[in-house]
Amino acid sequence: MTAFETLFEKAKAHIPGGVNSPVRAFKAVGGTPIFIDHAQGPYLFDPQGKRYIDYVLSWGPMIMGHNHPHVREAVVEQSAKGLSFGAPTELETALADRVCDIMPGMDLVRMVNSGTEATMSAIRLARGATGRDKIVKFEGCYHGHSDSLLVKAGSGALTFGVPSSPGVPASLADHTVTLTYNDSDGVRAAFEEIGNDVACIIVEPVAGNMNCIPPLPGFLETLRAVSDEYGAILILDEVMTGFRFGLQGAQGYYGIEADLTCLGKVIGGGMPVGAFGGKRDIMEQIAPLGPVYQAGTLSGNPIAMAAGLATMEVISAPGFYEPLFERTRALCAGMESAAERAGVPFTTNHAGTMFGGFFTDAESVSNYTQVMNCDTDAFNRFFHAMLEAGVYLAPASYEAGFMSAAHSDEDIAMTVDAAAQAFAAL
Ligand code: PMP
Repeated sequence: MTAFETLFEKAKAHIPGGVNSPVRAFKAVGGTPIFIDHAQGPYLFDPQGKRYIDYVLSWGPMIMGHNHPHVREAVVEQSAKGLSFGAPTELETALADRVCDIMPGMDLVRMVNSGTEATMSAIRLARGATGRDKIVKFEGCYHGHSDSLLVKAGSGALTFGVPSSPGVPASLADHTVTLTYNDSDGVRAAFEEIGNDVACIIVEPVAGNMNCIPPLPGFLETLRAVSDEYGAILILDEVMTGFRFGLQGAQGYYGIEADLTCLGKVIGGGMPVGAFGGKRDIMEQIAPLGPVYQAGTLSGNPIAMAAGLATMEVISAPGFYEPLFERTRALCAGMESAAERAGVPFTTNHAGTMFGGFFTDAESVSNYTQVMNCDTDAFNRFFHAMLEAGVYLAPASYEAGFMSAAHSDEDIAMTVDAAAQAFAAL
């Protein structure tokens, strides 16, 4: 047995599948997950000391790279004062002020502990505020694992949703309508039929849970327009995109404004934080101001707030984002030309600091069906070759990659070299 196999077997004794979140188990790509000992800057290190250039970045949060000294110091300093109080702190006010200053249309914001909590609560709020039950989501978007959101499309575009996991009541899935991402006409047609019953649309403004799928021109604008027309609340799930497209998230980048925004990942700098916020009149419906209930024992945890504030300070520095955008572009361009030299059908998408590669002949990939038509076997072999070469990509072909400020041009060049060899070996 390899060292990882031994660790994984031990983990499986008391942890379901050996992991605390399924995709970590390498089920999609096969083989055994690597275990991490520590991380620094753009690198992960396993217990044997092998180094990996990391493009997963804890699934997005570590936009400054791992173990950034400013965040670490804030956490250490705050932890000396106590770990949790369950009573207000000035840190919560400071982070809420900062986030409302930065994000378009955000008057009030509530901190929670994960992206799942943020989206689940935003949906309850949208339902409570509109008095409607139906929600609209898009195939291939992931918004956490709450019941209303673990729903896939029925057989026709407008059939009621069906649970995508046992344990989700069909009667609840009934209220979730799943449409095709980037299909503006489909959205308009659906709203003509059911628009007056829709509490909210929830969408990833750049989809990062079906690889990386940016919005086609007009798609987000259509969602904004139909929401206004039919009195539905537009929820932009920026758990992944928030603070990854500039300070104002995908909303600033694409010039679109949500009614409610969900945040997570970067906002906690690696600590468990999520948030939902938006327009005052909607947010005033949440307890204790209004009747829609939502709460959390550890919400606004002081250590997590300190990490979030320290992160906001670093990413607010002028010029923070441009080099990340440039390196994201360079990585994609480098991988595409390496694939071309090797004669491997491959294309990439990138937006902001997110990217994805697709093993396909298609010129562009812009929805879930196209993602699912890509060559998964080729990706899996590529993934393992890259891992062997010391590059850690997300262990599934339907996950986006992330860039950090710690990745250097040299890291990008090494990654492209490794990719060239991996493509050649395919
Ligand atoms: N929304 C989006 C867009 C996400 O990418 C994720 C997690 N990847 C979530 C919500 C759920 O967040 P969490 O895993 O923190 O519950």
